[in-house]
Amino acid sequence: MQFQQTIRKPVTCSGVGLHSGCRVSVTLMPAPLDTGIVFIRKDVSGSPKIQVSIENIRPSLLSTTVGIDGVQVQTIEHMLAAASGLGIDNLLVEIDAPELPALDGSAQSFVSLMLEAGIVSQDRRRSYLKVVRPIEVIEGNKRIAIRPASKSSVTYTIDYAHPLIGRQTYDYDWSRDAFVEDIAPARTFGFLQEVEALWEAGLGLGGSLQNTLILSEEGLLNEDGLRFADEFVRHKILDLIGDMMLLGVPVIGEIEAVRSGHALHARLVSRILESRDNWVLVPAQAPVSAGRLRELPPSLVASPQRD
Ligand SMILES: [Zn+2]
Repeated sequence: MQFQQTIRKPVTCSGVGLHSGCRVSVTLMPAPLDTGIVFIRKDVSGSPKIQVSIENIRPSLLSTTVGIDGVQVQTIEHMLAAASGLGIDNLLVEIDAPELPALDGSAQSFVSLMLEAGIVSQDRRRSYLKVVRPIEVIEGNKRIAIRPASKSSVTYTIDYAHPLIGRQTYDYDWSRDAFVEDIAPARTFGFLQEVEALWEAGLGLGGSLQNTLILSEEGLLNEDGLRFADEFVRHKILDLIGDMMLLGVPVIGEIEAVRSGHALHARLVSRILESRDNWVLVPAQAPVSAGRLRELPPSLVASPQRD
């Protein structure tokens, strides 16, 4: 993808927020060049705008939240993953509650909605943040790192003492098709014994078998079963792809995450932005027609770094 992209026309969906249990309606709208992703809380007086950026991240358990001046939007990661996976850079997101709808607990419905709106190229090249030296964040036995590479990829490992999960590792090569088919359908998950504690903390109030894989001690409560045997680790990659949107530009590098989660994903984004010597901003390469390609010496014909 060489040029910035947005959607062609507004599209709306509604549902229930996973943690707040609030009914919420969301309208995705086209946005001008260099907007990034901006939420508009139209249920709050003055309709405040909240830019998706690491400066606006707010402390939050089990989800990613952005806010400004006391106004927040929670559980943004699945919608952001859909935008990132489809290569959408600029989007206005009108919302009438403090949390995105859970829908089916994956990014699939947001992907369908964005494809229904249509995706259009805009009149300016994308910039990429290309990592040139490794950057790592470690917290106990959790770890996430990004290393220089010519293409973007993620290797994610999770390790849960549960018979259906155990240790799962998934290698994801960043591409639109791989995202839509292999990552977007993976649903969020939770453990039955944690549900009561969540409720006491005022979280998970909208959670149900319609939007969450719920694990009992031995198995899965969802009667239809899993979409993939390793749906759990795929969902962690989905979350990471969404959280990396906090950078503000797409990243080029090889990410390795072990037992990571939203807080560590956000710490990696912060660490990247602070480590100014460890990356460069590069413009997307100029498109080259087939005819012109034949005239160029092979050394000048670089392959696209990310689609
Ligand atoms: Zn998630």
